[in-house]
Amino acid sequence: MQTFAPGPKQLQNTTISKRSASAAVARHLQNSASELSHLNRSFSDIPIHAPARRQPAYSKRDANAEPELQPEIAPAPAPPEAAPAVSSLEPQAGISGTIPDIMTPPGEGKNTAPESEAAEKADGPMPVGATPVVANIHLNSSPPTAVHDEGNKTDAVISGVTQGALSQPGGKAVDPFGAESYEPSFTGVAWAFASGKCTISATFNPICPWGTASGGCTDVPSATAPVVTKDNWSAIKDDLKPGASSPFKSKRDKYYSQTLVERHEKFHGTDDNGWTTSSGMGIIKAQLEAGSVAAASANADVTALVEAARVKVIAENLKWYKGGGAAHDSYAGEIRAYADGKPEYQKLADGVEKQGKALAAPPAPGP
Ligand SMILES: [Zn+2]
Repeated sequence: MQTFAPGPKQLQNTTISKRSASAAVARHLQNSASELSHLNRSFSDIPIHAPARRQPAYSKRDANAEPELQPEIAPAPAPPEAAPAVSSLEPQAGISGTIPDIMTPPGEGKNTAPESEAAEKADGPMPVGATPVVANIHLNSSPPTAVHDEGNKTDAVISGVTQGALSQPGGKAVDPFGAESYEPSFTGVAWAFASGKCTISATFNPICPWGTASGGCTDVPSATAPVVTKDNWSAIKDDLKPGASSPFKSKRDKYYSQTLVERHEKFHGTDDNGWTTSSGMGIIKAQLEAGSVAAASANADVTALVEAARVKVIAENLKWYKGGGAAHDSYAGEIRAYADGKPEYQKLADGVEKQGKALAAPPAPGP
C-alpha cells in the first residue's frame, strides 16, 4: 500500500504556518490536534511537506497546479523549491500533496432565517457561495481505472474525510432575536495516488457561528429578577409563555430572555452537528468520490473537488433545515429549536407569575 506521512518536523511546521495565517483560520486551531492525529493515522511512511508559503484560507485559485513528486522511499523531505516537477511519464503511484484549507467565507454558509422575515424573503436566493456547483465535479470524469501511460489520465477519488469537533463561535451580528450559520471548513487537506485511485484526506469542521439581538426588548434573566414587579408580571408572562400553536414561539413584544435566545441559536448548531454526522459526512464522501483527479493537475483538481463538496454540503444543510417549510416558522429546524426551548419558556413564564403574585400579595407578617 502506498502511504506517506508527515514527520514530526513537518507537523510542527504546518502548525506554525497555521498560526501565522488569517484570523479565520486561527479560530479553527482547536481542531488542529484532531487533524494531526488524523494525518498520523492515515499516512505512515513517506514524508510530505507543507506548502512553502501559506496561502489565503479561501482561494481555490491560489492552489499550486503542479503536484510535487514524492519518492516512494525518502529519508528526508526535500525543501519545497527543490521538489522535482511531476513528469507525465512517471507512474503516479506515490504522488501526493497538500492544499490550503477550504473555508466558508463569513455569511456564505447556511443562515437560519430571521424571525421577522416574510416567507418570500426567507425563501430568497441563497448566498452565492451556497449555490450547488455540481458541474465542476464532472469536468475531469473518466473511467475509475487509470491508464498509466499518459499524462492526461484521471483517477477516481477515495474520500478519507473525518469529522472534526463542532465549534460555535458567538458574537455574530444578527437581526432580533438571533441567527445561526453553518460555515464549515476542510482543514489538513492532503491527497495521494495509489492503486489507480486518488485518496483525499481531510478534516471536515462543522463551524456554526451564532449571535443574538434584543430588538430593544428587556431581558428577564430569571423569574425573581428585579425587572419582575407586581405591576408588570402579567405582561412579562404573556411575552415569555410559549405560543399556542406551532412552532410555539414566545411573543416577546417587550420582554425576552437572553439566556433562552442563546439556547435557541446554540441548539441550531448542535442540530447541524448531528446532521453532519448522520448525513453531511456521507454527502461529502459521495460528492468527492463522484469526481476524479488528474496527476498533472492534482492540486487544482483536489481544490475544486473539495470546494464543490463544501458548497454541496451547505446547500444540503439548508434544505434539511427548511425541511420543506415555506417560511421561518414552518422550517423544520426552527420547529425543532423552539420545541427544545418550549419547556424552558414555560418554566420561566410560570416562575414570573409566581413571583409577581408573591410581590402583589406579600404574606401577612407573622405574630
Ligand atoms: Zn431559529
